[in-house]
Amino acid sequence: MTAVSDSTANPAAPDLLDLPPLTAAHFARIEDKVAALMGTRCDVVAMQGEALLPLEACIRSAVRPGSTALNIITGPYGETFGGWLRSCGAEVITLTAPFTGAVSPRQVADALREHPEIDFVSLVHAEAATGNTNPVAEIGAVVREHGALLMLDAVASVGAEPLRTDEWGVDLCVIGGQKALAGPAGVSVASVSARAWERITANEQAPRRSYLSLRDWKESWIDGGRAALPHAPAQLEMLALEQAVDHIDAEGLDAVMTRHRAAAAAVRAGARVLGGLVPYVIRDEDAAPAATTLRAPQGVDAREVVSAALAADGSVPVQAAAGALAKEMIRVNHYGRAADRGVALASLAALAGGLRTLSTEVDEAAAVGAAAAAWDEVVAGR
Ligand SMILES: *Cc1c(COP(=O)(O)O)cnc(C)c1O
Repeated sequence: MTAVSDSTANPAAPDLLDLPPLTAAHFARIEDKVAALMGTRCDVVAMQGEALLPLEACIRSAVRPGSTALNIITGPYGETFGGWLRSCGAEVITLTAPFTGAVSPRQVADALREHPEIDFVSLVHAEAATGNTNPVAEIGAVVREHGALLMLDAVASVGAEPLRTDEWGVDLCVIGGQKALAGPAGVSVASVSARAWERITANEQAPRRSYLSLRDWKESWIDGGRAALPHAPAQLEMLALEQAVDHIDAEGLDAVMTRHRAAAAAVRAGARVLGGLVPYVIRDEDAAPAATTLRAPQGVDAREVVSAALAADGSVPVQAAAGALAKEMIRVNHYGRAADRGVALASLAALAGGLRTLSTEVDEAAAVGAAAAAWDEVVAGR
């Protein structure tokens, strides 16, 4: 059989094949839409890979032997950054906050005062994996006063909570489409401030002629007025990213962020009265709107709770945490289309059903009621 579009077999499937080429002007327009969403007027580069590509590219481009980096760890991504920073030859100062909360601006200020040679700070805004979010506005002010470059991983925050890249003094900001934007995972965007470009162009170790090279994009794309693309873009992913941003604009960014905030409030409120589970992140203000993490009951493996919940309702976005946290942490991934009242209530009902089969006493009606009330309160703006 010749390869024809699946739309032959399934008439409802969109035709993904044989599209007209994505023009440079269209590619630039998509970049501009994303830049607006990120709150930046700096250069942005739509990198043709999942968000770990620009995250690694930012670190390898801006950091060199002789650099001293402050790596703030509030979840698993910060640990990944530490490895890249060291492999670039940087001295790495690590500031770790417990995954039950956020890092405080004062901790960052103390670290900068103790190590005045710090010239690069890496921070994750919200961590979908651990369910916490950090006060970037305040941390950004502290870092700016010190003078270091600030890199921010905003993959799990963009669309779910305010992201003001320029206002907060973020020099390198990375977003992806796969979380709150309900978009594709295969392309991602990095913003680069003028200060960051200076650092990158002065860095002899910055990748060149490489998939990891921000400088290649600057020379072959940005400096040429974005007139010609350096190579064939990931066209389907770029079109999907544009559609995701268009959907956000159509719904209204505030409404989308409200849905995410309401989902987190609902799941946290429900978990508090369900019995058995407690929110892993202690304070509401440290909880990420994109995902809520819950602590499994004493002596019960979180993976068993997740399996039992999914057996009760396989449609809910409930998952066990990865790695060392797998035994104790349950994730409810209420981002994108799952930032929805029905999904939040169904997630609690599924967890209740699962816990009941594990002989944990729960009050499902109270939990669902509290979640519904919390959702409605956020949406009503109270
Ligand atoms: C989701 C996410 C990413 C992207 O990683 P994937 O696991 O590949 O989706 C990067 N950083 C943060 C903070 C994220 O939450």
